[in-house]
Amino acid sequence: MSAKPNDLALRERAVKVIPNGMFGHEATHLLPASFPQFFSKAKGAYIWDVDGNRYLDMMCAYGPNLLGYGDERVDAAATRQLALGDTMTGPGAVLVELSETLVSMVSHADWAMVCKNGTDATTMAMTVARAQTGKRRILVADGAYHGAAPWCTPMPGGIVPEERAFISKYAWNDISSLEAAVAEAGDDLAAIFASPFKHDAFQDQTLPDPAYARLARELCDATGAKLIVDDVRAGFRLVRDCSWELVGVRPDLSSWGKSFANGHPISALLGSDSCRVGAEAIYATGSFWFSAVPMAAAIETLRILRESDYLEHMVALGTKLREGLEPVAARHGFSLRQTGPVQMPQILFDEDPDFRIGFAWAEAMLERGVYVHPWHNMFLNAAMTEADIDLLLEAADGALAHVRKSVAALQPHPLLMLMLGAH
Ligand code: PMP
Repeated sequence: MSAKPNDLALRERAVKVIPNGMFGHEATHLLPASFPQFFSKAKGAYIWDVDGNRYLDMMCAYGPNLLGYGDERVDAAATRQLALGDTMTGPGAVLVELSETLVSMVSHADWAMVCKNGTDATTMAMTVARAQTGKRRILVADGAYHGAAPWCTPMPGGIVPEERAFISKYAWNDISSLEAAVAEAGDDLAAIFASPFKHDAFQDQTLPDPAYARLARELCDATGAKLIVDDVRAGFRLVRDCSWELVGVRPDLSSWGKSFANGHPISALLGSDSCRVGAEAIYATGSFWFSAVPMAAAIETLRILRESDYLEHMVALGTKLREGLEPVAARHGFSLRQTGPVQMPQILFDEDPDFRIGFAWAEAMLERGVYVHPWHNMFLNAAMTEADIDLLLEAADGALAHVRKSVAALQPHPLLMLMLGAH
């Protein structure tokens, strides 16, 4: 494992002034020990850690990097707006232009409300649904991630049960489970949340059964509840529209974030007219929600999405990766489970219940200049090239040869074992 003295020095400083030295989903506590915590720069498909090591980045900042880091078209639009004004006493014209753009691209949407993070957009979806219906209960799929607010965070610290008193669980893609949860909610059902596909951590990904998606729509229509698609992670990586257009189902509300300004900080709740009254009734705001720079970046990103083959390019590269990796793994005696859309791959190993092989492969890939994740879905971006996928496959060949040699001595990650045991 190569030494990372600058990263180590920053960690030593960080632990004194930042709880646990780092918090949230970008903390490396649940990754192999050699993973750098701190980065110095990013460009295109690559990131550099603070010790100057360069990696092909298969995480794309957990989604926001869609066109490539530092896309010059997007950043020029942001810079032009910055010269004019960013956070002001009121929004710029870009708020209206961006809202028009989102409404024109997303079929179910008649209106948009911008915000900052995905959690803002999912929490606001819940609030709008309650305000619109006058009902309380919200159904969420077990294991789905809707953010870091008390009603949805997967970690129990500081949360009291009352904050989730009207949240019920159902099994995603499971028709009878959804029917039972709706029946249980009786006449108090405000909304059903659905992820566009099952992209829960530590698991194989699953695409939606159209019958399940249609049933969710029908149950909402029958009860007056609102259907919410959480497109924060998958938005615009599957289709240039809401992801459930792929199964022919239109939600009432959809939550967006991460990628639609190519990494500039902005998210959005989109809704149909069936929820306009509720949207007009809630109080939702933030000091930075109306910053004009991310909106200008979003307008330019969305233009590129409409006018380029960014999506088809990512699918072609994702297919090359999936098809290329399987024989590489087999050559070294490993069998992989590569699931989900090819442009958002989850790569897990068979016969690896405690992820020790996955951790060893991630560590060996990192050594070879490729940043892969052992238990979270990854992301392709449009700046990647065939040469990048070739580089990844070559790194995988070396990494898996190395893992094969050391497999008998591997140990599971102690913190991960604690965490998985607690769930
Ligand atoms: N929903 C989904 C599906 C997500 O993947 C995420 C972020 N990983 C969120 C909501 C929350 O977004 P944010 O971290 O921007 O608040």
